[in-house]
Amino acid sequence: MKNIDIKYDKAVEIAKDIWWVGHYLPEDPFQCHVYLIKNGNNSVLIDPGSKLTFDSTLKKIESILPFNDIKYFICHHQDPDITGSLLIIDDMVNRDDAVILSHWRTIALLKHYALKIPLQCIEELGWELELEYKKLKFIFTPYLHFAGAFTTYDESTGVLFSSDIFGGFTEGFSLYVQNDGYFNAIKLFHEHYMPSREILRHSLNKFQKLNLKLIAPQHGSVIPEQFISSIIHQLEDLECGIFLNTEDDTDIFRLSKLNRLISGFFRNVLSKLEFKEIIKYLENEISSIFPVKSIDFFLNNFGELVSENDSKTFYDKPLKGLKPEDIKFIGKNRVKWELSYKGWWLIYREKTVCVPLFSSAEDTLFGYAIFNLNKDFRVGKDVSDIMKEISIPLGIALERELMMLKIEQEGHRYYEQAIKDELTGLHTRLFMKDALDRILKMNDRKPKVALSVIALDIDHFKKVNDKFGHHYGDIVLQEVAKIILDNIRGEDVDIRLGGEEFAVFIVDENRAISSSIAERIRLNVQNFKFSGVLKDVAITISGGISFREPKETLENFLDRADKALYKSKETGRNRITVYSK
Ligand code: GH3
Ligand code: MG
Ligand code: MG
Repeated sequence: MKNIDIKYDKAVEIAKDIWWVGHYLPEDPFQCHVYLIKNGNNSVLIDPGSKLTFDSTLKKIESILPFNDIKYFICHHQDPDITGSLLIIDDMVNRDDAVILSHWRTIALLKHYALKIPLQCIEELGWELELEYKKLKFIFTPYLHFAGAFTTYDESTGVLFSSDIFGGFTEGFSLYVQNDGYFNAIKLFHEHYMPSREILRHSLNKFQKLNLKLIAPQHGSVIPEQFISSIIHQLEDLECGIFLNTEDDTDIFRLSKLNRLISGFFRNVLSKLEFKEIIKYLENEISSIFPVKSIDFFLNNFGELVSENDSKTFYDKPLKGLKPEDIKFIGKNRVKWELSYKGWWLIYREKTVCVPLFSSAEDTLFGYAIFNLNKDFRVGKDVSDIMKEISIPLGIALERELMMLKIEQEGHRYYEQAIKDELTGLHTRLFMKDALDRILKMNDRKPKVALSVIALDIDHFKKVNDKFGHHYGDIVLQEVAKIILDNIRGEDVDIRLGGEEFAVFIVDENRAISSSIAERIRLNVQNFKFSGVLKDVAITISGGISFREPKETLENFLDRADKALYKSKETGRNRITVYSK
């Protein structure tokens, strides 16, 4: 680690023959740096700096070499914190061959200073400056942050004079980066000043081909080698340019938070599937910026879906903050909404921020996200811009959630249909598979708890059909099913196996319970008095019981009950038989 206690009233040699000659300006978050390359009579001054600091810079220069040794004045772009001192320099320079070097776009502006020192384009030099002891290479880094911006690289020392790139906002002054925490200072600067990540990456790619030993930016701190690659990697993924959107906010710290919220939210929507999680994330993150208490959703046209869903987040009735005139836009095109709300992407009313959500397919309004606030809050255009950014992934996440709910509900409905027999209301074989899968597993773990099955079959049922017709056969089936249901407990599993055959699975500690249940069903069927056409019909039922052997399959288990049932049939019907070999 380099010396931390640098006296900023002295020049500092940051690499061989390269000197920092800037000046600490109290309470200036930018801290503009000036660098001097000592090269005999052809020395170079990089980004001469502001008029505010030039006196001190000059003192530092003169502590190293006579000012007149400087032949080249490189200006990486035209901003006053780089070129403000040129007017003073112009009066001081006392040699005919001194020259100001820059990109033609900068020179086109610098000419308005009407300086005596000539201006020369680096393009004419072939993007290189050959010195006695060094060769400087100029690297074009357009739009960072000027169309003609460039940086300077000294091959012999590996120092990159990076101008605005790698610059940082720092409180106080530290010539060198001290630790990884410095990235926060860089981050803010880049989010705010760099137009886009793609443009920044373009330049970072160029830098990665260099053998960088030290980065000397114009703002922030000088970056020693050990921090360089990590900083470049972090910058590659940084979202930039978002603050260009804002019109009425100058609080860059707040804007930076918003920026992070938006990019974090996008990532979240992409990676998380649970809508609840997405909303929780949004509530947490956004509350560091706005006083948000909770987020609700108004979804018209989703009445059934919304009312069947027990979540307290979706509503199909107007919520606080929304008025009928807002709701009448539901189903209408986005353009209409934007025209009526004059380009705003939110409605601020009664401590709520209502954000419109548009369907991704039709671009029509399908609902509102309602951000309930704890207290009044200044809702400016910047908040509207943020909400616009957020509403897109939020709308997508919500549409996805609604689709899932619909599928879930329909799936649930189909499943309900598939597991219940329509005629008798008993469960089907499909349900038996599902339910017994769980019950058998439980029984495997707790074999002491007896699991038994009663197989039941109506006696001479065919005769009922033959004599009275199918319709009356159905009535008998329904009555018998009712008797079965009346005589079992909620935890028992009733199944119509098919035709007039039934099964009841009974989980109990006590084997005797199953026999008594079966016996009760048999007796109740026998005693049941039909009315009408079936008045004189006496229906009976036969049954067989088996107790599950350890690890026995469902098929075998049920088959043994069936065998016992047939024993009942063989021995005269209207009776229950417990399986035995
Ligand atoms: P057993 O005492 O030996 O069981 O004689 P059974 O007549 O009850 O037995 P079998 O299996 O010969 O006859 C069952 C009849 O049940 C045949 C079929 O037409 C009738 N059946 C099956 N499903 C239904 C239904 O859903 N409704 C009606 N009405 N009849 C059905
Ligand atoms: Mg039968
Ligand atoms: Mg039968």
